[in-house]
Amino acid sequence: MLLMTMLWSCTSKQEKMEKRMNDFISSYEAAAIPLYKESALASWDANITGTPEAWARSEKASVAYISFYTNKDAFASLKEMKKSEMVKDPILARQLELLFNMYLAGQIDTILISKQVRMETEISQKFTNFRADINGKLLSDNEVEDILRHSVSGGKLQEAWEGHKMIGPLVADDIIRLVKHRNTIAQELGFNNYHQMSLELSGQDPEDVTRIFDELDSLTRGSFIKLKGEIDNYFAKRYGIAVSDLKPWHYQNRFFQEAPEIYSVDFDKYYEKQDPVKLAADYYSSIGLPVDAILAKSDLYEKPGKNQHAFSTDIDRAGDVRTLDNIRPDSYWMNTILHELGHGVYSYYNDMSLPFTLRDAAHAFTTEAVANYFGRLATNPAWMNYMGIIDTEEMEKISDDAFNAFRLQQLVFSRWAQVMYRFEKSMYEDPDQDLNQLWWDIVEKYQMIKKPEGRDMPDWATKIHIALYPCYYHNYLLGEMLASQFTAYIITSVVKGDTDSDMKALGEFFKTGVFMPGTRYQWNDMIEKATGEKLTAKYYAEQVVN
Ligand SMILES: [Zn+2]
Repeated sequence: MLLMTMLWSCTSKQEKMEKRMNDFISSYEAAAIPLYKESALASWDANITGTPEAWARSEKASVAYISFYTNKDAFASLKEMKKSEMVKDPILARQLELLFNMYLAGQIDTILISKQVRMETEISQKFTNFRADINGKLLSDNEVEDILRHSVSGGKLQEAWEGHKMIGPLVADDIIRLVKHRNTIAQELGFNNYHQMSLELSGQDPEDVTRIFDELDSLTRGSFIKLKGEIDNYFAKRYGIAVSDLKPWHYQNRFFQEAPEIYSVDFDKYYEKQDPVKLAADYYSSIGLPVDAILAKSDLYEKPGKNQHAFSTDIDRAGDVRTLDNIRPDSYWMNTILHELGHGVYSYYNDMSLPFTLRDAAHAFTTEAVANYFGRLATNPAWMNYMGIIDTEEMEKISDDAFNAFRLQQLVFSRWAQVMYRFEKSMYEDPDQDLNQLWWDIVEKYQMIKKPEGRDMPDWATKIHIALYPCYYHNYLLGEMLASQFTAYIITSVVKGDTDSDMKALGEFFKTGVFMPGTRYQWNDMIEKATGEKLTAKYYAEQVVN
């Protein structure tokens, strides 16, 4: 009898709390959806037209949307419901978890936020205004990159590299103050530091991320050592010096984040007479994920005032999906349109029966993974052959070089992303340590590039992401790893060839396994349900290791 009563009272408590959550969601959606939509639309218009009025409207809409989550009563209510542990229905519980995190991030003292924005703006201006002074000539970042990429004169390379690094001392103290300020904010919300807060609020456990970065490091270290040897020989020959005399400025870009062009295939020439939009549309249609509705709302070509890059946006999570591009007939834009439409189909083919909060990507890096999966096709000879861009003979001719270039690029990038992740984590854990030395310790360990003798400069501060796009870089590498995990799963379990039904099965895999679940599950659970395994570095390693 007693047991029955307890059960009954529990159920009734659960019902009551779940009703409360349902009511919360109703009023939340009524207020938040219009703000979300206006913010997305205004930003779209601003990026298309570039007029001051459009940007003013966009800023206003974005502030209105962000401010919505500062509501203290709403947060208190979510906190109570969370603490009760009585919201058990999985769909409601998941929304509670996500909304709690969104409102938690909104609870930062507005004075602290404005101070952070002010500090970021000042640093941003210093980066914007900085030009590398090389013998009295002021050079932009692009000009520095140009010298590093093309010059073979050791003296010129060193001047360009050192000249660019002079931004470090101009911003390093500001960045350390900003890092400490961000830590104060994180501690006010109950986190140890800002790095931990950023990851946890986005649904990532820092220990999970570190574990997977460790896994990737151990799977690729041997292969990277070998490849680094080949790269060093290539550069030693290029500059006519001994391998032991190679310095950080000999690696063709400021951070050794891109691979040298040891294996080169001129992909652009294959796309000169092609229409990347038509190719992408035909391909997505062949896998059963037509993109006509997305393209109809998109803005695809260059025009005055328009944003020169590319992005994809989900205006209402109800079918209004668009991409902004500046398409030209070359391999870069072929990759980009496939990439952006990858984001696009993720949004467009979501499950409309899920509530608004769950009609989103499982994580920023899972949509990046889908976009990368499709973007990579642009330089995949088998895909180019399938699409009729090259014949079988040409495919066979370029396959090895194309694959080697891909491997090299990925391996080099993965080591660089290791540096960024480990440096940021350690810096937020202890901003008072010797950061100059920490940076070079990590660079030497993961990129195997030696610090120039006696150098004690804030070289870490010269990467703008450290200051202005904090604690996000690791997601680029997680996206690449997941793209490879998708590829491996598709090859072994989804498609057997390139028949019509194989292609449809490929689209169906993404639609039902990845897109429709939205944020219904934590990202690692989604990946496990879709591919049979949690996120692992092993498929990426297999693809990039010889
Ligand atoms: Zn993307």
